[in-house]
Amino acid sequence: MSDEDFKTDVGPLRQQLIDWRRDFHRHPELGFQEHRSANLIADRLHALGYQVKTGIATTGVVGLLEGKQPGSVVMARFDMDALPIAEENKVDYASQDPGVMHACGHDAHMAIGLGVATLMAQRRDEVAGTLKLAFQPAEEGGDGAKAMIEEGVLEDPCPDVFLATHVWNELPAGIIDVTPGAIMAAAEKWHCTVQGKGGHGAAPHQTTDPIVATAQIVTALQTIVSRNVGPLETAVVTVGSVHGGDAFNVIPPQVDLTGTIRSYSPRVREMVLQRVREIIEGVAAACGAEAGLEITPLTPAVVNDAKVAQVVRTAAEAVVGSENVTTGERTMGSEDAAFFMQKVPGCYFFLGSANPERGLDAPHHNPHFDFDEDVLTIGVAAMMHALAHYLLHEEKRG
Ligand SMILES: [Zn+2]
Ligand SMILES: [Zn+2]
Repeated sequence: MSDEDFKTDVGPLRQQLIDWRRDFHRHPELGFQEHRSANLIADRLHALGYQVKTGIATTGVVGLLEGKQPGSVVMARFDMDALPIAEENKVDYASQDPGVMHACGHDAHMAIGLGVATLMAQRRDEVAGTLKLAFQPAEEGGDGAKAMIEEGVLEDPCPDVFLATHVWNELPAGIIDVTPGAIMAAAEKWHCTVQGKGGHGAAPHQTTDPIVATAQIVTALQTIVSRNVGPLETAVVTVGSVHGGDAFNVIPPQVDLTGTIRSYSPRVREMVLQRVREIIEGVAAACGAEAGLEITPLTPAVVNDAKVAQVVRTAAEAVVGSENVTTGERTMGSEDAAFFMQKVPGCYFFLGSANPERGLDAPHHNPHFDFDEDVLTIGVAAMMHALAHYLLHEEKRG
């Protein structure tokens, strides 16, 4: 496989990729409601000759391309959902649905997925193995990946390798980051009720004040990361909401808190969860109050397999040059691709997409989010090079 192959292949697709992306962008759909997007994708995959399954986890679509020769099964995943955000960009491809916006770049992912589908279909005769393109609903906190797994997306055939990418405005367009190991955090959400005894604001001695207990809990929680987590390890404990009391002269009976916990390693995760519980229950007890804590796991960490990451690095270097392939991009954000990657060795890489000179550098989930569309071809080419490593073998080509 020559390094130039996909650069030349993808060139003619450039305008088509932009058109697909803008069409998805105009018509954003929230998690598990991606009916229009899914129909469009399924139609395209059908037209390209893929075996297509639809309605997986409501709106998920899988396109299967089986090669003439046996070989690896590679699954590439593209998420489809938008966010409940009102777009503030003044562009002709702005969202036509007030209050819903592709503010994370999943419109780009769908376009890249269709680009890959197109180029791979053109090389169908050279494919040894099976390509599984999975278009996933509800990445944004909606557990779409988990639902697809429950509906069998990792069976029949079971992938040997998993690939995914995300356009990434933290990095400039033209950069690809491939980092082995943990790159996105395991996430939990927690809810806690601090139960005291309410009463008159002028008679605190007759009450058990849950506000004072809560204040100490919030402060003590800060010591987990600063005093319990090793200085070279990574974790976050955030209190995201505190609700209690209605009147200036009343001590309320109860305060409700919610928050999130983020970590990379299972060992640190276990320890942090235990410390959160000990602190909340212990501090509440010391104040004479009672705390009920519920911790709900959301996603595991995204951990890139070293071998697959090396393949993706080589692929990325072929597209943007080794000087533009970085290592070390990590975030404490979470991503439900982690559920696939718990079962299949894979690599999730970041496709730098910001272009500050053109004002395309707003952060993800911001009403001004937009990115440099040149990265669509880069994303397709990088994905194709990585897929070629597994599915298009030089010696099997005529
Ligand atoms: Zn997002
Ligand atoms: Zn996203």
